[in-house]
Amino acid sequence: MTAKVIDGKAFAAKVRAEVAEHVARLREENGLQPGLAVVLVGEDPASKVYVKNKHASTVEVGMASFEHRWDATISEADLLALIDQLNADPKVHGILVQLPLPGHLNSELVINRIDPAKDVDGFHISNVGLLGTGQKSMVPCTPLGCLMMLRDHHGKLAGLNAVVVGRSNIVGKPMAQLLLGDSCTVTIAHSRTKDLAEVCKRADILVAAVGRPEMITGDMVRPGATVIDVGINRIERDGKAKLVGDVHYESAAAVAGAITPVPGGVGPMTIACLLANTLTACCRANGLAEPEGLTA
Ligand code: NDP
Repeated sequence: MTAKVIDGKAFAAKVRAEVAEHVARLREENGLQPGLAVVLVGEDPASKVYVKNKHASTVEVGMASFEHRWDATISEADLLALIDQLNADPKVHGILVQLPLPGHLNSELVINRIDPAKDVDGFHISNVGLLGTGQKSMVPCTPLGCLMMLRDHHGKLAGLNAVVVGRSNIVGKPMAQLLLGDSCTVTIAHSRTKDLAEVCKRADILVAAVGRPEMITGDMVRPGATVIDVGINRIERDGKAKLVGDVHYESAAAVAGAITPVPGGVGPMTIACLLANTLTACCRANGLAEPEGLTA
């Protein structure tokens, strides 16, 4: 069997086009423009690239993009004051603080200062609690993107066995909550899991969010399973820099029913979902119906 390739790049383009349509309608019918504020502290090269891409995608769908770039020496008090200012600004519907923050800043304190209704990353403790109790929340972008792709591929997910490898707060745990919300039977595996291969083999849906290059191999995949590879690992092979996932693509694709590639799978969906969350936040803030199919 050769797996169907789930094309995240094409799917993300479709999501961005849908968001753009909603944004145009909001402008025409309600005189509103969703706005996303991104806060970047310091000079981390990867963070700078992410922020640049987020700005370009935000503008492309017709939203307002507010960039706040600060020197790595900014004090915690000044950063919190900026968050307060963005919380109070009616033009700003979404706030994203690019992580990691420099060591002298307490990330938890900063993230939890964001108004939960504007927390488009879904990392605020209130949103974590709302998601965990099955209530309407802001959902972290990467797992939301995975959920959208899974719903698109499977239709209904109810009753399927889902295994999530990884229990981080930004990917593994929210992913498991979302799958549970769609009535999957969910197992969360991690570094202490016994016989990981056997656990993975039970999965109809296998989500790998481990941060270890090509760790999940074909012999760990149930024939016909859907494999979602969240991993982004930069490695060197044959003297060349290469981007690989947490799944060994060739061996897994030979057994799986469907699989996301790296690059071009989960990655592009993350920014698309950030835009979807900003649109949702704008609709909620203005008492308007939420865009269908773009939320959990
Ligand atoms: P973390 O390092 O925070 O978490 C990794 C998880 O994997 C931990 O729960 C850890 O278990 C588990 N793990 C580590 N080694 C093993 C092992 N040998 N067997 C089983 N489980 C193991 O990573 P993130 O969740 O932040 O990210 C995971 C991957 O996803 C990374 O490659 C990252 O680059 C990528 N990523 C991609 C995004 C995208 O947009 N596509 C966005 C965010 C992340 P334990 O808790 O026991 O230590």
